[in-house]
Amino acid sequence: MKLPILCYHKVGPQAEEGRRLNIEPTALTYHAAFFLRRGYQTLLARDLAEDWPERAVCFTFDDGYESTLTHGLDALRRAGAVGSIYVVTDAVGKDSSWDAGNERPLADWSRLLEAQTAGFEIGNHTKSHARLGDLDESRQAAEIEGAHEALARQGIESSSFCLPYGSRNDATPAAIRAAGYRVGLALSRRSATPSDDRLLLPRVVIAYSDRIPQLLYKLQIRPLLPKLRRRPDYVR
Ligand SMILES: [Zn+2]
Repeated sequence: MKLPILCYHKVGPQAEEGRRLNIEPTALTYHAAFFLRRGYQTLLARDLAEDWPERAVCFTFDDGYESTLTHGLDALRRAGAVGSIYVVTDAVGKDSSWDAGNERPLADWSRLLEAQTAGFEIGNHTKSHARLGDLDESRQAAEIEGAHEALARQGIESSSFCLPYGSRNDATPAAIRAAGYRVGLALSRRSATPSDDRLLLPRVVIAYSDRIPQLLYKLQIRPLLPKLRRRPDYVR
């Protein structure tokens, strides 16, 4: 009962958003339609705290880019899917200062609230896009709890957490749990299984050039060949 948790960032035409950390809206619709046509349900990440159904998939979007809200929601809805969007609360409505040299606009609170109303999940991606693996437990807790409170002030009850860069250390699960979360998303190269730690669930990064064959390769074949490719997906 493996569950693919797919990790995207921006959603926009190449002319606007380039290729790095981006997917064309039509490609995203194809990805979602591929799973739905095969009888998969789309779950929100917060649903992963509970047992999940036999055929389920989860679409996640890091950083809350404006393009994700502008193109991504419609691209998923065209296929009948929803997803979870992870925002950096100090940067909402500003730009992605952590994308040095490639800063892009981030959605503001009103767009995020619209998405929540439309059935999408808005989750916690820390206050400042912190690399948690470099911080002690109290600083990690401050990043996670501060973001939780900022979301709550806007009327967003966030129920899942997503690690910036997938970065973590031994103190990270305790810091996530202390902020009240039962679901945390990390990065890996395989689908989730029911025996995974729900606070560090593996996600697979999807790149600009990934069409259905590459998606299947990443989900079904590459996990069996863990040493063949070492380059991170997002540099393609
Ligand atoms: Zn991020």
